[in-house]
Formats: sequence, structure tokens, C-alpha cells
Amino acid sequence: MCRLEMTIMKSARFVLSCRGNPMVHVGGFNFIRERSRGLRTRWVCGRKRRLQCVATVTTIEDKVVKMYGYHNHS
Ligand SMILES: [Zn+2]
Repeated sequence: MCRLEMTIMKSARFVLSCRGNPMVHVGGFNFIRERSRGLRTRWVCGRKRRLQCVATVTTIEDKVVKMYGYHNHS
């Protein structure tokens, strides 16, 4: 496991949006829940709809296990 992944896992923060939707905050970006199966949840970038951002995150319980794609915004 590389150091970057460790940092990402430590910096993952689970939050509720003001509308009560579960979100996860990773590496300075917010992700919204797309679907979950068992303990595994897939999250998509909060700007996916507006900017077609393809970055996603997978978590198991409260740990980030996978990040995929790059944000097309800052
Ligand atoms: Zn994004």
C-alpha cells in the first residue's frame, strides 16, 4: 500500500449534505452515493451531473478502498 493511498484513507470524511443525503469528502472533493451493495458503496463526484466528472470512489464500511478516474475540474 503506497503512502498516497494511506493519506486518502485517513482523509476520507463522511458527511450529510444539507438535504440529508450521505456524502463522502475525499481529497478535497465531495462524492455523492450512487449505489451500495452490502458493505460496499460506490460514490460519484458531486459535480458529475453538471460537469460530467468521471471520478468515483468505492468504500467498504468507512474505508476508501478504491479511487477511479480524474476530476475534470479543480
Ligand atoms: Zn469531480
